[in-house]
Amino acid sequence: MRVYDIIDKKRRGSALTKEEIDFFINGFTKGDIPDYQMSSLLMAICCMGMNEQETYYLTDCMLHSGDVMNMSAIKGTKVDKHSTGGVGDTTTIALAPILACCGVSVAKMSGRGLGFTGGTIDKLESIPNFDTALDEREFFEVVNQVGCAVVGQTQNLVPADKKLYALRDVTATVDSLPLICSSIMSKKLASGTSTILLDVKYGQGAFMKTVHDAIELGKSMVKIGKLAGKNVGALITDMEQPLSSLIGNSLEIISAINVLKGERNRLYYEMCEVGTKLLVLTTLYDKDSARTAIERAIDSGKALEKLRQMVIAQKGDVSYIDNSDKFTLGKQMILTAKKSGYVTSMKTDDIGIAVTLLGGGRLVKTDSIDHSVGVHLHVSIGDYVNKGQKIATLYHSGRNTLQCAELITNAIELGQSQPPQHKIAYAYITANEIEYY
Ligand code: URA
Repeated sequence: MRVYDIIDKKRRGSALTKEEIDFFINGFTKGDIPDYQMSSLLMAICCMGMNEQETYYLTDCMLHSGDVMNMSAIKGTKVDKHSTGGVGDTTTIALAPILACCGVSVAKMSGRGLGFTGGTIDKLESIPNFDTALDEREFFEVVNQVGCAVVGQTQNLVPADKKLYALRDVTATVDSLPLICSSIMSKKLASGTSTILLDVKYGQGAFMKTVHDAIELGKSMVKIGKLAGKNVGALITDMEQPLSSLIGNSLEIISAINVLKGERNRLYYEMCEVGTKLLVLTTLYDKDSARTAIERAIDSGKALEKLRQMVIAQKGDVSYIDNSDKFTLGKQMILTAKKSGYVTSMKTDDIGIAVTLLGGGRLVKTDSIDHSVGVHLHVSIGDYVNKGQKIATLYHSGRNTLQCAELITNAIELGQSQPPQHKIAYAYITANEIEYY
């Protein structure tokens, strides 16, 4: 088998066999196939797609590229959630402690930033000393003791995805249904949890730009989950604007803390919906009791206390949770509206790109992250703004500042008619049905 022939076959749009996929992925994971040939195949997959069978073979091969976790040492009902990626999506950091308060165990393995989207692990590393690389024994201990823990993928959990993810991040090969599906599902299946809620985003700030594509991705992931004997649901949620008005690594930790302190915003409502669906999937709750349990966890202050416990158990400096003013933020630059009008839409991906260019994400694999940069949006879709009104605050450390200021100002699109309200969620997919909101 020749690497060249497999790239050429996919470039021409033919379906790859299981043997060809195994050969490529295993060769790349071992280091026998170089980045440039893998990048070329990734681009061919992005352009030509993969059918259901190929996507399944790819997922299965990636899943078996490393260890499959055995979570039997974790007590109680184990749950997991995974977002397909968005801007200002800090759901996991707020939801994991809430779910722990609702009596389920959250052993969460999260990722780093990808393309224009932020990553939970990069965000958590804004908390000084927070350890996202606990070994398996420590990870399970924290989950048993606190009810939740969030770590990066262990070194040998789906090593194929680790290498592919880093390469896709910098080669414009992220927004492909089979690549996203196999990346997420290989990790979910290898991480050993049997109840999984997938938060599939659509819109300008998501990899799936349309509801239709997000539904196809959701269906594909639910189907693969079912084939693997897992209990999986996919909630299709809106990413036409950033989920949180604070975008950037430290800023998103602050945003999660604010929600746990009772702030009611889009992040709050989305997070409640994701949490409700997940708790119902476990069959421990029905819809009403799940929602009540989530609201109670927040309103009682127990979820915030649970976040504190998780940070302490993962060796982070909890004084940053107690006083979020301690987070170091970049220098401020105020951005104002160039004209009057309604905020009709947002180029949400450009907002994510701006945060990356400020230093909040990676342009090449080896880049380090500047946790202090980001943007605070002061407007949402549907708001009316007057010319000269403050629309955003940029937090920067001098890198690409003017370019990013321009990018963000132009990303907030103004027009004369008020746009319709955006739903938080559009549909919910399970193995048996699709429910539309
Ligand atoms: N999240 C992942 O883990 N992988 C992707 O490809 C996209 C989002």
